[in-house]
Amino acid sequence: MDLLRQRDHLAHKFAVARERQAKVGTVAIPQRSVCLICKKHKPVTDMVRIPTTGVVKGVMDCFCSACAKEHPKEVSALARIVCAGCREVVAAVEPFVERTGFPWVAGRFYHVSECPVCSKKLGLTESQIAEKICFYKSRGIPYS
Ligand SMILES: [Zn+2]
Ligand SMILES: [Zn+2]
Repeated sequence: MDLLRQRDHLAHKFAVARERQAKVGTVAIPQRSVCLICKKHKPVTDMVRIPTTGVVKGVMDCFCSACAKEHPKEVSALARIVCAGCREVVAAVEPFVERTGFPWVAGRFYHVSECPVCSKKLGLTESQIAEKICFYKSRGIPYS
């Protein structure tokens, strides 16, 4: 598998995610220790730790502990995309169902194996969501 194909293979469209952002409320988190609620840059130790997502252990969430305590509804209302390489929440998604039927469920974790931050491949702009790969594979539809 050549690099380009491999990259394509690993790809979840961050560009597309950004485009969709306005429509469906996907928020790519630029600096990951910035809290999504108070928008403040917090020390990593002030961020909520997710003991396990079921796949990845000790994940840093996109909320600071103070906000998580104060706004439990907002915190549980989002789906999260976790990078297994960084062990951090890299994006938050408002729940919705895609045209393909793929569901983004509040409180559920979705996983990418790498992201532009931890990937050694220059110019990685996409990485595929593991749960989506399974969902599409089981239905015989191409990843989109
Ligand atoms: Zn906060
Ligand atoms: Zn990463």
